[in-house]
Amino acid sequence: MSEHKDFLRTIVEEDLASGKYKEIHTRFPPEPNGFPHIGHAKSICINFGIARDYHGLCNLRMDDTNPTTEDTKYVEALKDAVEWLGFKWDDSVRYTSDYFPELYGYAVELIKMGKAYVDSLSEEEIREYRGTVTEPGKRSKYAERSVEENLDLFERMKNGEFKDGEHVLRAKIDMSAANMKMRDPLLYRIRHAHHYRAGDKWHVYPMYDFGHCLSDYIEGITHSICTLEFENNRDIYDWVLDTLGLKSPRPYQHEFARLSINYTVMSKRLLLQLVNEGRVSGWDDPRLPTIAGYRRRGYTPESIINFCDSIGIAKANSTVDVAQLEFAIRDDLNPKVPRVMCVLDPLKVTISNYEGTEEFDAPYYPEDVPKEGSRKVPFSKEIYIEREDFSENPPKGYYRLTPDQAVRLRHGYIITCKEVIKDADGNITEIIAEYNPESKSGSDTSGIKVKSAIQWVDANTAKSVEVRLYDRLFKDEAPQTLEDINPDSLKVIKNALIEPAVITDKPDERFQFERQGYFYADPVDYTDEAPVFNKIVGLKDSWHK
Ligand code: ATP
Ligand code: MG
Ligand code: MG
Repeated sequence: MSEHKDFLRTIVEEDLASGKYKEIHTRFPPEPNGFPHIGHAKSICINFGIARDYHGLCNLRMDDTNPTTEDTKYVEALKDAVEWLGFKWDDSVRYTSDYFPELYGYAVELIKMGKAYVDSLSEEEIREYRGTVTEPGKRSKYAERSVEENLDLFERMKNGEFKDGEHVLRAKIDMSAANMKMRDPLLYRIRHAHHYRAGDKWHVYPMYDFGHCLSDYIEGITHSICTLEFENNRDIYDWVLDTLGLKSPRPYQHEFARLSINYTVMSKRLLLQLVNEGRVSGWDDPRLPTIAGYRRRGYTPESIINFCDSIGIAKANSTVDVAQLEFAIRDDLNPKVPRVMCVLDPLKVTISNYEGTEEFDAPYYPEDVPKEGSRKVPFSKEIYIEREDFSENPPKGYYRLTPDQAVRLRHGYIITCKEVIKDADGNITEIIAEYNPESKSGSDTSGIKVKSAIQWVDANTAKSVEVRLYDRLFKDEAPQTLEDINPDSLKVIKNALIEPAVITDKPDERFQFERQGYFYADPVDYTDEAPVFNKIVGLKDSWHK
């Protein structure tokens, strides 16, 4: 458990200590209308994390009361995300739609108590009658309907006798309440639509404010944790449960600040639009802030969980810098993954004084990583280095290969540039170099000092691979619309070259390509014949340079 106790855990501890609850029971209640994103991960970590820490239980509940937007593919994505993050829900997955009969029964009870009525005002009139923050609202004349009439109308609403919008069921609370949400909130509306799970049986669907508190109660939830936007809905939550006299255990709502991250969007509406308009390859596009996207990109569950823990639980909304998430994945991968060599933009180097072939023994892990394992790195007369690791006119502070500056080939020899070959347009096509036979890494007696070691691959044995480099999906720090999209967020390199052990030896799925960053074998498109690697993250925070 984290050292700094957050306010939710403080509440839970107090509730256990006072005996208010014997056992705590939380829930994660997404609406299955989109793929879960990093904000959902935050909520998953809070709800499942609290249940774990206090030996309680956490339900996974599909809050599926809106027939027009929900789908089983989203249910599957949500289950997947929770499992991938390593959490287990209590029993089987719950569905608010399974409670429709019970919820209907509670609505009938409210009607019988004179606490709910069928209103037949239009949507517009309902809005008008509600009043404003400074002006009290006025009650609909339909609020005078008798219990019998209300019962009859509500049943006929359920049976599908009326059109969408013709009637609604409302709670009879207070049309001049300071909290506008309490001005006779809607409990049910008519919807003639096919529900992905309940089929065509229902013609009335419960509103969030009615369905949520009762679903919590039905499941024996103790702490109903939601985001700040629902602060004003808490009064309705309490009103419904208290009016119906539901106790033991009686759930209470607690709000925390929703997570937002810069350079991306998290609203499901915008995410859906990105996917539907084909601006990304799908819900699992590695540039999206979806769990499926991070997963495909190569993020680990540990990194996401560590990130969620590190940002804490706040009571005021704020935006977290995406650099903090990137720190978490680097921090997780650094002590875990093998270091290998890959050249993204190959420049041929011919070593004129070398003949034959040899293999260098190279450990996969640096000394400070407590893991064992090494591979053979083949070497011969023809190699490739990164084009940007050679400069004819080096800027100040350039430590790599130049006509006057030797460089070490990582795990191999020191080479010196002898000649630069160019095509008719003046582009460098090849370097002729010489190696120093006494300079072999690990047994260097050459006495030559170099300022850096660069990655390289042997021309004869290197494998051609596709590398996908990702940048921020949005160029704007706080994007509002899809117009702020970064047109260069994906760069595909078709013919990068990688040392053969990565493909043949396969020491891992995630790697550090030395001096380039962390990469992941794409779980969908990768084959040994046509390998594809996704860049997870760079080696250091290069964005804010
Ligand atoms: P949207 O507004 O995009 O539709 P939502 O909040 O309606 O998002 P749900 O699927 O209903 O999405 O959310 C499921 C749970 O995840 C809720 O308890 C919600 O509070 C929580 N959640 C959603 N987004 C975030 C976020 N950005 N940060 C923290 N928790 C979130
Ligand atoms: Mg929503
Ligand atoms: Mg919601």
